[in-house]
Amino acid sequence: MESGGGQSKVTGQTGGKQEQEFTFAARAGCAHLDGVKIHVLPSGPIQTIGYLLTETALGEAVLVDAPGGIMEKIRPLLAGSGCTLKELWLTHGHWDHTQDAAKVVRETKAVVRGHAADRILFETPEIMEERMGRKLGLEPLKIDAWTVPGERLAALGREFEVRHVPGHCPGNVLFYQAAAKTAFVGDALFKAGVGRWDLPGGDFETLAQSIREQIYTLPDDTIVFPGHGPRTTVGAEKDGNPYVAAIAR
Ligand SMILES: [Zn+2]
Ligand SMILES: [Zn+2]
Repeated sequence: MESGGGQSKVTGQTGGKQEQEFTFAARAGCAHLDGVKIHVLPSGPIQTIGYLLTETALGEAVLVDAPGGIMEKIRPLLAGSGCTLKELWLTHGHWDHTQDAAKVVRETKAVVRGHAADRILFETPEIMEERMGRKLGLEPLKIDAWTVPGERLAALGREFEVRHVPGHCPGNVLFYQAAAKTAFVGDALFKAGVGRWDLPGGDFETLAQSIREQIYTLPDDTIVFPGHGPRTTVGAEKDGNPYVAAIAR
């Protein structure tokens, strides 16, 4: 049996926004694993989603992105599940995805991964404050391991593939788990939308090519977890995304 789609259940309410949790069936052959839970945690000033993945059978967790306030949200989830945060995976260097990263690392000692094309954003986030014209108290972040396109990350007893999807910014990557048909795509692709391409380092043609070559090539039933808003699937976006059609026109 292949693992199937997610069953969602509401686990709480914060600030009127639903926080959700999805459980994926364990893969055949991994029956000793009782499934990775994906905690969907919109956080920070623009409701950027941090995804906490917990594997209670191993006592391990991975966090995808670290928006402002995420540490307060994951602390009880880690304690309650008996999981230690092993890794922090950053989809890209924009401040709304990295605002709490230094704090998370200080408290959990998680290994941080990100793409070198966004190095300047990770290491000198104040340039984003200057651009926005307001102080957010962003802290520089040291990346422990630069992600490489095509690399396979072993985590939570599973394998995740890294794909490079530039265009929204130079260093946007996605983390794809083939067995559970899930992809965490950052701000490259949204439900019926795409990431903005008008910020420094953004480019629409690059973004469209990335989406077609790196996301639309995943199986149609892959669940896409974006950096903002509701989840979608690769097939739904190939069929109906108003910005990037499956085939270039
Ligand atoms: Zn972004
Ligand atoms: Zn964002």
